[in-house]
Amino acid sequence: AKLRVGLLFGGRSGEHEVSISSARAIANALSAEENADKYEIVPFYIQKDGFWQAGEVAQQVLDSGVAIENSAVTPNLWQFPAQASEIELWFPILHGPNGEDGTIQGLLSLMQVPFVGSGVLGSATGMDKIGMKVAFAQAGLPQVKYQALTRSQIWSNPCVFPKLCDQIEAELGYPCFVKPANLGSSVGIAKVRSRSELEAALDNAASYDRRIIVEAGVVAREVECAVLGNDQAQASIVGEITFDSDFYDYETKYTQGKADLLIPAPLPEGIIQRIQEMALLAFAAVDAAGLSRVDFFYVEATGEILINEINTLPGFTATSMYPQLWAQTGIPFAKLVDQLIQFALLRHSGEQ
Ligand code: ATP
Ligand code: MG
Ligand code: MG
Ligand code: MG
Repeated sequence: AKLRVGLLFGGRSGEHEVSISSARAIANALSAEENADKYEIVPFYIQKDGFWQAGEVAQQVLDSGVAIENSAVTPNLWQFPAQASEIELWFPILHGPNGEDGTIQGLLSLMQVPFVGSGVLGSATGMDKIGMKVAFAQAGLPQVKYQALTRSQIWSNPCVFPKLCDQIEAELGYPCFVKPANLGSSVGIAKVRSRSELEAALDNAASYDRRIIVEAGVVAREVECAVLGNDQAQASIVGEITFDSDFYDYETKYTQGKADLLIPAPLPEGIIQRIQEMALLAFAAVDAAGLSRVDFFYVEATGEILINEINTLPGFTATSMYPQLWAQTGIPFAKLVDQLIQFALLRHSGEQ
């Protein structure tokens, strides 16, 4: 009998559309010749308002690739479509808050059904840039200098705020990067070069998240490595992103032609090996499972490699970095999806 796979996509984050594209690519792979006998796809679509759709509506979004705007129904994340009880394995392909951050993973854990990707701890630690950096530091991974702040430090106390800015200027200098701690796709991130820009960026980041991080800016090449597996995970070859814009912001990420992926990255063999080692250390440091894309800064002048972040549910469209890195490492898209499901089953069984 075929394994009934619940493909869970859409979601409440700003990466809703990316999630739909990722789900379409995965559904395609699951119905490819080598997988069609093994898996039955059951689509579950989470609307932007959080309402779960199954059946025809979910299938329609999967087929058309077009999001459904808020319907008349009352948003209620806890009202599951009846089909949920028949799912034998969940494949969540949701990016950002309420999908990549451990919330959905907690729900799926409660269901006691295997699911693809990291569990609660790995997802939450991978999503929160402050928690992530603490875990990376503990694992001895080099990274940029940073300061962690809360929204209340920025908003509630007009006496504290100037001191906070003084401290950031003294310890990090300009340019620095202001980021909401729990987002993706560069949403809410600003590169700042002056006091007034810093103040505005902190205020803006605080509108997205309770937790805010400010990082020293680094001039470097941006390289990424894909990880696949559980306790004995493997690292892919390394890819590089190139672009002309000031940094890899939202527009550069999602406007056709603004960024190029270079696979493999033209790097010395020793650097590649070090990046792969660091990617596996990072994966273990946050307790990731199944898959992750680990992003690095390579400072060519000094040979330094700094870890930027881990993404536990990276973009998974046909043209995304994660599946492309594996394709060129020797695991084509359909095989990759099959392996992710097998790793989920292994992890659920408690073996690894
Ligand atoms: P993703 O979509 O990969 O999840 P994200 O929203 O988590 O991205 P980051 O990867 O932290 O955001 O940062 C986005 C981009 O901003 C980086 O790819 C890089 O171009 C730039 N950037 C971030 N931090 C720094 C830094 N400390 N120094 C230089 N550039 C930076
Ligand atoms: Mg990220
Ligand atoms: Mg992300
Ligand atoms: Mg990134």
